[in-house]
Amino acid sequence: MRALEGKRIVVASHNAGKLREFADLMGPFGLEAKSAKEYGLPEPDETGTTFEENAYIKAFAAANATGLPALSDDSGLVIDALDGQPGVYTANWAELPDGTRDFGMAMQRAEVAMQEVGATEPAQRTGRFVAVICLAWPDGEAEYFRGEAEGTLVWPPRGESGFGYDPVFLPEGHMRTFGEMTAEEKHGWKPGQAQALSHRARAFQKFARAKLGSA
Ligand code: IMP
Repeated sequence: MRALEGKRIVVASHNAGKLREFADLMGPFGLEAKSAKEYGLPEPDETGTTFEENAYIKAFAAANATGLPALSDDSGLVIDALDGQPGVYTANWAELPDGTRDFGMAMQRAEVAMQEVGATEPAQRTGRFVAVICLAWPDGEAEYFRGEAEGTLVWPPRGESGFGYDPVFLPEGHMRTFGEMTAEEKHGWKPGQAQALSHRARAFQKFARAKLGSA
């Protein structure tokens, strides 16, 4: 496994919600993290069919452009009643013809699709958020860290916090949706702690243990 030398790293994302969460998660480690957006890099087309492929496309594009190691996150919501949809297309479900995104519409689309297959009871509305973090170097080498958070899809949406589909995702064992939690509650993790809650915090915990010497 290759060491992460130095403190400079690019966060290969333009997604404000993800960038906020990575800033929280990375904070305690003193990394000098700048986003692909701050570097003025274009967003590459996510042409892969797996979270790993898309995570690599984003991380390698940023590493190649900056000459620094880059960390990306490809994530999405996998709904069992919809045979895993929207999955890697989670962001696409929010896309409007003008290229902007509307997550209220995306959550509704998922709800309509679940209603159409008769998934109305909580037990039929299970799913998970998946996050794959890819750490890529400018020479193309890469490592992957996957985190998953199991839960149930609720309707109507609940809460104003977080981003994306957070208001319809009730994590297993909890009474509040991600949209009703503070960022700290959603991460459910601090360095050295055994448990993490969100898919992103779980993936980051693996990255931190492997690369940042976290307990
Ligand atoms: P991508 O990784 O850029 O393909 O986008 C993943 C999409 O999944 C995001 O735009 C969000 O809509 C959704 N998503 C990923 N992680 C989360 C999360 O933590 N909360 C809510 N939605 C998420």
